[in-house]
Amino acid sequence: MRKWNGWGWVDRGFDLHGHDDAFWSFVAQSLGRESLPSTPSLPLAAIPLPEVRVTEAVIEALRAALDVDRVCTDHEERVFHAVGKSYHDLIRLRAGKLADAPDVVVYPRDAEEVARVLEIAQTHRLAVVPFGGGSSVVGGVEATKPASFAGVLTLDTTQMDAVIDVDPESLTATVQAGIFGPELESRLQSAGYTVGHFPQSFEFSTLGGWIAARSSGQQSNKYGSFEKILVSARVVTPTGEIRTLTVPRSAAGPNLNELIAGSEGTLGVIVDATIRVHPVPRSRDIQGVLFPTFDAGATAIRRIVQAGIPVAMMRLSDADETRFYSTFASLGKAKGPARQLLGRALGATGYREAPAMMLLGMEGEPGEVRSSKRRALAIALAERGIPLGGLPGRKWYEGRFDMPYLRDPMLDRGVGVDTLETSTVWSKIGEVHREVRESLLTAMRHHGGAGFVMAHISHSYPHGASLYFTFVFPRQLDQEVDQWLGLKRAASDAIARCGATISHHHGVGTDHVPWYAADVSDAGSAMVRAARQGVDPLGIMNPGKLFSV
Ligand SMILES: Cc1cc2nc3c(=O)[nH]c(=O)nc-3n(C[C@H](O)[C@H](O)[C@H](O)COP(=O)(O)OP(=O)(O)OC[C@H]3O[C@@H](n4cnc5c(N)ncnc54)[C@H](O)[C@@H]3O)c2cc1C
Repeated sequence: MRKWNGWGWVDRGFDLHGHDDAFWSFVAQSLGRESLPSTPSLPLAAIPLPEVRVTEAVIEALRAALDVDRVCTDHEERVFHAVGKSYHDLIRLRAGKLADAPDVVVYPRDAEEVARVLEIAQTHRLAVVPFGGGSSVVGGVEATKPASFAGVLTLDTTQMDAVIDVDPESLTATVQAGIFGPELESRLQSAGYTVGHFPQSFEFSTLGGWIAARSSGQQSNKYGSFEKILVSARVVTPTGEIRTLTVPRSAAGPNLNELIAGSEGTLGVIVDATIRVHPVPRSRDIQGVLFPTFDAGATAIRRIVQAGIPVAMMRLSDADETRFYSTFASLGKAKGPARQLLGRALGATGYREAPAMMLLGMEGEPGEVRSSKRRALAIALAERGIPLGGLPGRKWYEGRFDMPYLRDPMLDRGVGVDTLETSTVWSKIGEVHREVRESLLTAMRHHGGAGFVMAHISHSYPHGASLYFTFVFPRQLDQEVDQWLGLKRAASDAIARCGATISHHHGVGTDHVPWYAADVSDAGSAMVRAARQGVDPLGIMNPGKLFSV
C-alpha cells in the first residue's frame, strides 16, 4: 500500500534514530521559530472530489474493453491518481483542495487494450492522463479537465510490467513500460544485468515515466540519463502506433526516440521499450572529499569529467547543504575528542567557512574502479580537496532512497520543503547557483518568512552540470498555494534570466509550462505542438502538459 498523501509505503516513515527532539528543535531554530505547529493531513475519506462526469455507458464501454476490475471510479483510486508527488501536490491533497480528479482510472495490460481505451476516449472526448508511478514533481499527472472535454481518464500503466526479452549479445532488454524500478532491476539482476538507472524515486517510478520525463539516475555519469539508455520504443497514439527500430544509430531523419523521451504523455502511451543494459558491476567505491569552497569542488568535477575519467557519480553539496547534512549526522551525538580535533584543524585551515562535500563514485570491474579512483582523487587533491575515505559514501549509499520520507513529517509540523533543478554550462554554474539561491531567499522573506536554501551538483558533462536546489520554509497556512507559486516563480524567472534550462530531469508538466518556450523558443514549441497534432488531432493526450491547452 502506497501513501495517498505522501511518499512511499504506508507503514514506513523516516527514522530519526531516537533524535527526534534534537532534529525538530534544529529545524525550528533554522527557521527562526521557537516551536513548530501541528498541521496534520485530512483523512482520505474527507477529501472532496467532483462528481464523476462520464456517463455509465462510457464506463460500460471501458469495462467491455478491459474488464470490470480494471476500470475504477471509487474515491480512493480517484484521489490517488489526482496529482503527483510534488510539494504543490501534497499541500493541496492534504488540505482537501484538489481542483479536479480523474473521473475514471483504468489499468490496461497490453498495447491492444491501450488502443481500445484511446479509441473510447476519442469517441467520448475524454482527456487521457498516462500515469506510471505518479512520482512526477512538475504536475505531469495532474488530472485536469479542460473546458471542452467531457471528463478525465487516467490510464495507469502499472499492470504492463513484463520483461519481454533480454538480448545478452547486444546488451539490451525489451520491457513493458509500467514496470517499477525494483521489479525491473530484480528481474534483470537475476540474469546478471542492470540498467544502472537509480533516480531517488527509483522504488516508486516506472520505465515509462523515466522515458516520458527524461529521467536521470544517481549514477548518470556512467549509465547516462534516460534518453541515452533508450534504444527503441513503441507508443500507442490516438491515430496508430509509433515504433522506432532497435538499432544503435540511424541517419533516417530526426531521431524520434528523442521526441518520445520527454513527450510527457502528450504523444501517446509508451507501452514497451528496448533499453541498454550492463553487466552488474563487480566493484563499487564511493569516496568522500571535502573542499574549502563550492567553486573549488565544481572545478574538480569539471576537470575530472573533461579528462574523460570513467566515474559513475560526482555529487557536490554547497556550503548550506554540507552544513545541513553534517549537523543532521551529528544530531544528539556528543562531540568526541577526534571530532573536536578535526573541527579545530578544519577551522585553522579555512575549510569551515564555506565547506563543500563531494561524493565521488566509481563502479565496474575492480581494476577499472581502482584506476578511476586514483586519477579522479589526484585531480580533487590538486583542487585542495581533503580525502575523507569511504565512510561518507557508504552512509549515503545505504540511505540513498530514504530522504523523501522526511518530507511528510515536515509537512505535519508546518514546514514546507520543495526542490527544483536546472542545468547550465560550466562558465555560468556560479552565477546560476547564486541567482537562484538569492531569488528564493528574497521570495521567502516576502512570502511567509525566512527559510533556507541548499544546493548540489549531481549530474555533470564535459560542458556543464545540473544544479539541484532544496528549499525549506515555514508554511504560510492560510495561503500556501500562493506562497509556493511566489517561490516557484522567483526561482524559475531567475533560471530563465540566466539562460539555464527550466528542468534538467524533472520535466515540464504543468508547473513549468510558462517557462518552456524560453527553453526551446516559440517556433520550437510550435514544432513540438505540431508533432503532437500529427498523432493526436483532438488533443486528448495529457492536455495542459508541456503547453497550455
Ligand atoms: C522524492 C522524489 C525523488 C525524485 N528523484 C528523481 C531523480 O533522482 N531523478 C529523476 O529523473 N526524477 C526524479 N523524480 C521525479 C520523477 O520520479 C521522475 O520524473 C520519474 O521519471 C517519473 O516516473 P513515474 O513512473 O512516476 O511517472 P509519472 O509521474 O507517472 O509520469 C511522469 C510523466 O510521464 C508520463 N508518463 C508516465 N508513464 C508514461 C507512459 N507509459 N507513456 C507515456 N507517458 C507516460 C505522465 O503522463 C507524466 O507526464 C523524483 C520525484 C520524487 C517525488
